[in-house]
Amino acid sequence: MRVDFHVHTSVSDGRFAPEGVLALARRAGIESLAITDHDAIEGFDRAAARLAEETAGSAAPLRLVAGVEFSTSLDGTEVHVLGYFPAGFPAPLRDFLARAERARMARIEEGVRNLNRVGVRLTVDDVARQSPGRAIGRSHLARALIATGVACTTADAFRRFLSTERGLVPAPANAAGDVVARIREHGGVAALAHPPLDRVDAILRALVPLGMDGIEVYGKRRRGVDQLYLETLAREYGLLKTAGSDWHGHGKLPDLAGVDIAKDHIRPFLERIGHGEASRASRT
Ligand code: AMP
Ligand code: ZN
Ligand code: FE
Ligand code: FE
Repeated sequence: MRVDFHVHTSVSDGRFAPEGVLALARRAGIESLAITDHDAIEGFDRAAARLAEETAGSAAPLRLVAGVEFSTSLDGTEVHVLGYFPAGFPAPLRDFLARAERARMARIEEGVRNLNRVGVRLTVDDVARQSPGRAIGRSHLARALIATGVACTTADAFRRFLSTERGLVPAPANAAGDVVARIREHGGVAALAHPPLDRVDAILRALVPLGMDGIEVYGKRRRGVDQLYLETLAREYGLLKTAGSDWHGHGKLPDLAGVDIAKDHIRPFLERIGHGEASRASRT
């Protein structure tokens, strides 16, 4: 089956509006979808509203689950935690995201100050102009650096100025453990996004005891031995395996394709988010 549980929209740093992403997902034949913007839920809200309008017609079945990709810090490194909320997005977490949105802006302001200090001429307005949605971030900072002629590509901007190691943009404000605990407290499923192979074991050792439930094993960039390693870790830690492409839509074409995956690999995750066969049968 074709699924995608990790997709960005223009609400954070993706290119396409949530309604457009929904249309692209349909075109790709994706059956089960999560929009997971950085520290923001508006993309899901908008896609869900569009989906509710469509269901009146005869569109192919597509299931949507509320998702967020939380930016967090763990021992000074950056960890992205995916949160999925089968019963809808809980109100208290909306307040949490409002605070996260302000923290993201403060982080960019500090990043701009540090860039100014090392001789880069750039203003917060230059960055804000690149960010039409809610969740401003380093991708927008990269675009501003390109627009002002300081960097030539996004990769160049990240390598020279924006990587965590470079230390110019501070680490995310929220602690990974707090975010995992909060997701669980509100009935969500917490999964590790795009696991960094060199740190994944340490991250799981720290976060599984706090309630981390899953790990993104299947995605565009993971194949062969790397995928086997993640499957092994999922088994050892007793984690749900998820699938997501982390698509942002910045390529030459609107090439959202999702992840083509044998259902058996992700069945426990599908059941957990209410997209399993049992829940389908009970709805009809
Ligand atoms: P932020 O949410 O501000 O920490 O930014 C994280 C986002 O920046 C990621 O989701 C990617 O979209 C983007 N990103 C991170 N590292 C790189 C990189 N080396 N090259 C291009 N984009 C990157
Ligand atoms: Zn992103
Ligand atoms: Fe991420
Ligand atoms: Fe992502």
